[in-house]
Amino acid sequence: MSQSLHEIPVTTLKGVGDALASKLAKLNIFSLQDLLFHLPLRYQDRTRVTPIRELQLEGETVIQGTVASSEILMGKRRSLLCKINDGTGTVGLRFYHFSGAQKNNLSPGATIRCFGEPRRGASGWELYHPEYRVIQPDAPVETEENLTPVYPTTDGLTQQRIRSLCEQALDWVTRNEALQEWLPDNLLNRFRLPSLTEAVQLLHQPPTSLASSLQGNERHPAQRRLAFEELLAHNLSFQKRRLQIRNVGGFSLPPTGQLIQALKTQLPFTLTRAQNKVLDEISTDMTSSAPMLRLVQGDVGSGKTVVAAMAALQALENGYQAAIMAPTEILAEQHARNFSDWFKALGISVAYLSGKTKGKKRQEALEHIASGEAMMVVGTHALFQADVVFKKLGLAIIDEQHRFGVHQRLALRQKGENGGGGQPDQLIMTATPIPRTLAMTAYADLDCSIIDELPPGRTPINTAVIGDDRRQLVMERLRNACLEGRQAYWVCTLIEESEALQCQAAEVTADQLKEALPELSIGLVHGRMKPAEKAEVMTAFKEGHLHLLVATTVIEVGVDVPNASLMIIENPERLGLSQLHQLRGRVGRGSIASHCLLMYHAPLSQPSKERLLVMRNSSDGFVIAEKDLELRGPGEVLGTRQTGLAQFKVADLERDNDLLDDVRTAAEHLINEAPDHSKSLINRWLGAGEQYAGV
Ligand code: ADP
Ligand code: MG
Repeated sequence: MSQSLHEIPVTTLKGVGDALASKLAKLNIFSLQDLLFHLPLRYQDRTRVTPIRELQLEGETVIQGTVASSEILMGKRRSLLCKINDGTGTVGLRFYHFSGAQKNNLSPGATIRCFGEPRRGASGWELYHPEYRVIQPDAPVETEENLTPVYPTTDGLTQQRIRSLCEQALDWVTRNEALQEWLPDNLLNRFRLPSLTEAVQLLHQPPTSLASSLQGNERHPAQRRLAFEELLAHNLSFQKRRLQIRNVGGFSLPPTGQLIQALKTQLPFTLTRAQNKVLDEISTDMTSSAPMLRLVQGDVGSGKTVVAAMAALQALENGYQAAIMAPTEILAEQHARNFSDWFKALGISVAYLSGKTKGKKRQEALEHIASGEAMMVVGTHALFQADVVFKKLGLAIIDEQHRFGVHQRLALRQKGENGGGGQPDQLIMTATPIPRTLAMTAYADLDCSIIDELPPGRTPINTAVIGDDRRQLVMERLRNACLEGRQAYWVCTLIEESEALQCQAAEVTADQLKEALPELSIGLVHGRMKPAEKAEVMTAFKEGHLHLLVATTVIEVGVDVPNASLMIIENPERLGLSQLHQLRGRVGRGSIASHCLLMYHAPLSQPSKERLLVMRNSSDGFVIAEKDLELRGPGEVLGTRQTGLAQFKVADLERDNDLLDDVRTAAEHLINEAPDHSKSLINRWLGAGEQYAGV
């Protein structure tokens, strides 16, 4: 076979023209291979003819009999009612849409076999729009020997049609021996997997004996086989990209200790055991001349920023620049302030660059970055832009990676090639704990460290769920708390994605609160304010000059004001669980007991209720993330569209979670033992486009 199956268009099959091809395209079926991997949703058992006397209301059945009468009824809706008799009873077939030819076919005396779901109708048992065919009365009763597959389909494409296409595709590959096995025998044996051909054949045309094992919730070994192969292909694709990067080579940046030590002694706290452990891992990676590709996960408030700062210093100790990129302006500004404070005493200048840095300031920042005068660079995704040229970028840090896409994280990495002659080390930080399942699929190209401990002295956040009919009471509590010296956030949410509307809502709320609570000093921050204005408000809040900060969800990521201990979130039902967890993580950063009020708008749907209860009952980011995954599915949680992460054709992360460890083992084996096969597998499942490696 010179051509791979995924390159052979469906139009190769008999009777598939443009019209049909475009219907298939709606199902993402373009090639013969797509047809083979277009698996049935369920199966029907048509292997037994049921005597009419035994009919029950229990799903689809095959019936065979002679047409006794056939007439067009003119009731409320015109219909064709055709009665058939099999010697044990009579059943009516009713058609609301029918052709003249159909009427003729179903003329009295004809023997037909039909398939449909019996219901109690006007004339006794009736089958509405059954599938049927006319057969010879003396023909042997040959029923299908296999279960009949029911496929996902689309408008204008009947089950019969798509069934026959899948059958043709199966025939075609069988005749041409076109479905190649890329998993070596030792892997098949080790993981007890059937061969690919067996699996595909079985899932499209399962023998009747499998009726119960395929209908249940259990995963059949054939399904397991396909899911395994698909997950394996994705994993291999990540590994391949990882290898490509590592082959470019990086810089060896061993710690000399001077700067890092100086920062350590300057900090008002000592690092936690978890922070130190992760720092060791980073330090080892940076020392190696292969580029670091490391993901640091740590729950909200676990202290990732200072870890990033230490890593940056290790690059700086070697005379290389470091850059940290944050997803929002507010967070980038906060990082700029923190890094400047920390690094000032070390004599290191920090440059700041965001989309809103304009004119002379921008020019200056660009020059400092290019000359290397700015050793530490903090910014937003403006750092990706083409005119940003580093002198010698040794380390690129991406904070709150879940807010960026896969594409963006690769873009910053490429910056290093400008001046360095190698790949910079890459450190990716995320506070959204990534469920293990996702970590092993979407982030399989990265090594992973976890900060699994919060700094000591934190008190847990008390979360309450409360209706907005008690707004008055909430404001009362808020006033008292603030007058006792506590600081609070009031977060406004909106369904609309429009930032303008969000900001407007926050402005209105701020005005209302100012009027209702004149004894409090209240600030407002949202995404449409000028950077300087925002910075001013944030500083005032941080320094304790404001009791209350009214904000949009711009404060979701990273904002750190330890004295704030009360948060009110309006309409929390509009946000995802992980987002709520992020928001709530803005409080509970100090030693005072913190409270979070989730103020919903009634009535709440059952799922919304469930989600808010998850928030009330758990403060563990991992638990919440798993729950989020369960409730919203991986696409939503990962932001499939932005990340360019492919949807799986066959695998289902929830169902197939248990395969991931074996998949990883198999991937390692294949890369070493059969690199060609690994290439073919990637090709088969991800296509030549290869979503990941292509970016
Ligand atoms: P996140 O992991 O959410 O980014 P931050 O880096 O913003 O967390 O840290 C949260 C707060 O904890 C900050 O005020 C930071 O100064 C403080 N912090 C970090 N590490 C420690 C530590 N080891 N002991 C005490 N406080 C710490
Ligand atoms: Mg952070």
